[in-house]
Amino acid sequence: MSSLDPKKRGFATRAIHAGRDHKDPHGALTSPIYMTSTFEFETAEQGGARFAGEEGGYIYSRLGNPTLTELENKLADLEGAEACLTVASGMGAITSVFWSFVAPGDEILVDETLYGCTFAYFRHGLEKFGITVRHVDMRDPENLAQEISAKTKIVYFETPANPNMRIVDIKAVSEIAHSVDARVVVDNTYMTPYLQNPITLGADIVVHSATKYLGGHGDLMAGVILSSAEDMEQIRYVGLKDMTGAVLSPMNAFLISRGLKTLELRMERHCDNAEKIAAMFEASSKVEKVYFPGLPSFEQHELAKAQMARFGGMVAFELTGGHDAGLKFLNSLDLCKIAVSLGDAETLIEHPASMTHSPYEPEERAKYGITEGLVRISAGLENATDILADLEQALARV
Ligand SMILES: *Cc1c(COP(=O)(O)O)cnc(C)c1O
Repeated sequence: MSSLDPKKRGFATRAIHAGRDHKDPHGALTSPIYMTSTFEFETAEQGGARFAGEEGGYIYSRLGNPTLTELENKLADLEGAEACLTVASGMGAITSVFWSFVAPGDEILVDETLYGCTFAYFRHGLEKFGITVRHVDMRDPENLAQEISAKTKIVYFETPANPNMRIVDIKAVSEIAHSVDARVVVDNTYMTPYLQNPITLGADIVVHSATKYLGGHGDLMAGVILSSAEDMEQIRYVGLKDMTGAVLSPMNAFLISRGLKTLELRMERHCDNAEKIAAMFEASSKVEKVYFPGLPSFEQHELAKAQMARFGGMVAFELTGGHDAGLKFLNSLDLCKIAVSLGDAETLIEHPASMTHSPYEPEERAKYGITEGLVRISAGLENATDILADLEQALARV
């Protein structure tokens, strides 16, 4: 029975079939790409009625486009959210949410470890407009309970956090935030809806950089926002339409819909490869510390097991020789590519302190646990033996 109820179908089935709300007039299996900026009205009155919200239908692609709608419906289904909005980048998603809900005098509480540009937006962007941004170590929800007040409008975090894999208890933090009516916004980029559903655990809004796993092929930039239908009215018609204008192109929306068909398969492989990489590093005498939630030695392993389906495709580690050994290691690789970004078919490796997390001041990095010797790997989809052989030969040269 269950497979006949579309809501009860498995993840891969929904990733392939959900979201399409019409039959193609020509019977095309794959939906066409609506490469159009604007939409023709039958009459002047119809145009007026659409602007007044009295009649459904498309107006202009900054407000909506059928190729984006299909993708948005699919993602809402996968993440278990009422509404979805797709935008031009992960940063476009984050900024569209904040510009929708904060005003001068408000306070937001954010975790200590954040994606570098998110950190820069809070520090150098929002603070300039009279919003107080305070960092709290959310690994212990008690810290949040101490700092939160009626002034707090948004609680924001990533879990696992980029780059050092710290985990935040989504359920516990959401309960504390809701005691003062603050919205909880979670960056779920590292996990994808396949491995973790923050809204089901109590969060209000989820953002993704779809540039990463959701697109999955390193060929586009995009962002995703998921929330209640009520919040999405504001995010779409204020945050996106009037404030950021970070509109996704129909071509990229099509490529993400295409990528989602294999998301489950890809994530399983990313997870398998990351587990093997983490185990290899943990056994190596050249590696000082491995940060991977799937290792029993990982500090928050139990919490990770409780809220994540698997442990994801990201591994961070520190070599015994610190910063210099890290750079030597990167420069000794052959198959693995030195590049920022993550979630691609290719295994990518980078040095957060000088690359993704350079927007932090050195003292801030030290304070927030982003050490100078930390190296971050995004496990790709290659054969594990080939990835491990490359990593091992590079370790041997350090
Ligand atoms: C890449 C990334 C972002 C920013 O997304 P873009 O698509 O590059 O704008 C935000 N959060 C996390 C965790 C990321 O990895």
